[in-house]
Amino acid sequence: MRKPPSPDISHSCVRYNVPLAPLVTWGVGGAARIMFTPRTEEDLSRAVSWIYSNGADFFVLGRGSNVLISDAVFEIPVINTVLMSAITVRESGDTVYIDCLAGTHIKEVLALSVKNGWSGLECVSGIPGTVGGAVAGNAGSKTGSIGSSVESIVTLECDGSRAEWSGKEIEWGYRSCPLFGGEKRIAESVTFRTRQSSRDEVARLVAETMRGRKFQPVSARTAGCVFKNPPGNSAGKLLDEAGCKGISVGGARVSESHANFIENYSGSARDILSLALLCRKRVLEKFGTYLDFEVKMAGGWGVYPDAGE
Ligand SMILES: Cc1cc2nc3c(=O)[nH]c(=O)nc-3n(C[C@H](O)[C@H](O)[C@H](O)COP(=O)(O)OP(=O)(O)OC[C@H]3O[C@@H](n4cnc5c(N)ncnc54)[C@H](O)[C@@H]3O)c2cc1C
Repeated sequence: MRKPPSPDISHSCVRYNVPLAPLVTWGVGGAARIMFTPRTEEDLSRAVSWIYSNGADFFVLGRGSNVLISDAVFEIPVINTVLMSAITVRESGDTVYIDCLAGTHIKEVLALSVKNGWSGLECVSGIPGTVGGAVAGNAGSKTGSIGSSVESIVTLECDGSRAEWSGKEIEWGYRSCPLFGGEKRIAESVTFRTRQSSRDEVARLVAETMRGRKFQPVSARTAGCVFKNPPGNSAGKLLDEAGCKGISVGGARVSESHANFIENYSGSARDILSLALLCRKRVLEKFGTYLDFEVKMAGGWGVYPDAGE
């Protein structure tokens, strides 16, 4: 395999032919031809500049808990943010601002809030992933979505320029943020806005959120909900009523406890996608409802034109 030209950045940030399967919760996917793992904003800048000067797009990978990466070689450069982890806190009256680098684990930010009785992030209780991934997908639960607690986001554009976005001016969608979705922008840091509350109240809201997750499988390899809920309906309920629970393709199986979760035992990305498409077909045939993917497809899915959403 031909090695791309060596990027002029600190050697520890760059690796070639990196298997991605161990880096995603489904445990599937091909190898990245080149992967950057920056630790600091400066590392990230240099990686993006190198990618830009070589005329490429890039794919951002956080903790891989919401992506289905194809089995093929991942041709475009991957930027894995997981080492870009740092939290600082500023207080102003009753408001507590939490500044995080994008690779910070959202669980760490929540744990800090719970410990100090800062309210605002309880809706992400039990959700794995990085701050950047949570913001890019407006992660959340029945008790709310993370976008409503975002004060600001600093992004790095593919040409190396930075931009700061006010959270209140972003038109957050259901499991989406309009800033992201292409392959030309990365969230570098995020500031959350929380407010002083009490530990008991924050713990109560965390417990309420966790109650809504009781049917989600926790011990199997999954990537959260495969499909978004269609307006006014539940994707899990439609999938269940279409008889999807327990069906399998290769080593991938629809969870018996929550029909919108696909568990991977020994399957490939292709098995998972084939199973997801089969489930979508069943729901379409039974209810006339087309389910949109919540998980993001990444890598070369050429043989599956339906998967490129
Ligand atoms: C058991 C389980 C339960 C889950 N439950 C929920 C739930 O209740 N609610 C929910 O909303 N989600 C849930 N998820 C899905 C997932 O945890 C969230 O979507 C999470 O926020 C993804 O973060 P990540 O770092 O893993 O992102 P990744 O999976 O690595 O990436 C997801 C997307 O975000 C983009 N991205 C990541 N980082 C950045 C960045 N810095 N800048 C720009 N784009 C970026 C990626 O390019 C990709 O398109 C669950 C997942 C699992 C495994």
